[in-house]
Amino acid sequence: MPINQIIAKSIITKSNLPDSDFVINPYVGCTHSCIYCYARFMKRFSWHDEERWKFLDVKINAPDLIDEKALRKISWKKVFISSVTDPYIQAESKFQVTRKILEKLVDSQAKIGIQTKSDLILRDIDIIKKLKNVEVWLTMTTFSDGLRKVIEPFASSPVARKDALIELKKRWIKTYVFIWPILPFLTNWKMIIDFTKGFTDYYIFENLNIKGSIWTSIKIFLQKYYPELLPKYEEIYFTKNDYWDKVEDDIKNFCGYYAIDHRIYFHHSKKNVKNIK
Ligand code: SF4
Repeated sequence: MPINQIIAKSIITKSNLPDSDFVINPYVGCTHSCIYCYARFMKRFSWHDEERWKFLDVKINAPDLIDEKALRKISWKKVFISSVTDPYIQAESKFQVTRKILEKLVDSQAKIGIQTKSDLILRDIDIIKKLKNVEVWLTMTTFSDGLRKVIEPFASSPVARKDALIELKKRWIKTYVFIWPILPFLTNWKMIIDFTKGFTDYYIFENLNIKGSIWTSIKIFLQKYYPELLPKYEEIYFTKNDYWDKVEDDIKNFCGYYAIDHRIYFHHSKKNVKNIK
């Protein structure tokens, strides 16, 4: 895959996400190559003709863009790292853009949220510990490494993510497990909770969104690995039904029973009932 070092014009951008004011994306593109990646649309905003997963741009000057003016802008605001890439993709071990960005944020009053599927985050524990207000989200879709290799081939294994959680927790760093995307009949979220409870502060649940070209990837994946599930997915996503309402109820009941702090973001599920097959 071609890796390009680019000079970015800006690095802190306004966010449309519900729970953040600004986002920082150190890279354009993401080598985790998740089959359900929602961020493929970013290619439209780059100069690339290649498919999204066939290139990576490193914003090599990103740390230099975080000057005093930028720090004033984000003071006391919520800053999310990252929204359309993972800040700890493999290239980060070499380029260390995320690490240098975090170094710049050490004196900031911003509330920093770091979201990743990689245990490379442990490399930066020394800096994360110094941040004044920080939360780390470890995303988990499955506790099956066989399934993970198919759906998120270049992200860390579920056990490595769990171990990362344990290490972060040992250092009193606030952590969340982001159970996303819940794949019908494949994501065993109760098992994920079982394996991670005690190492995280709370859970966030979000269901699979099939907008844009995601459905095409999911369909190819199902046809190849789980053909028996394809009609079930089509029923969930292309007919009127209450599948996600039932899952939501199940999560609420389970978390209520075991007193598990959680949030559910199923906001886009109803919009999926559209004819985009
Ligand atoms: S980690 Fe996020 S941005 Fe990267 S490929 Fe997966 S879904 Fe896309």
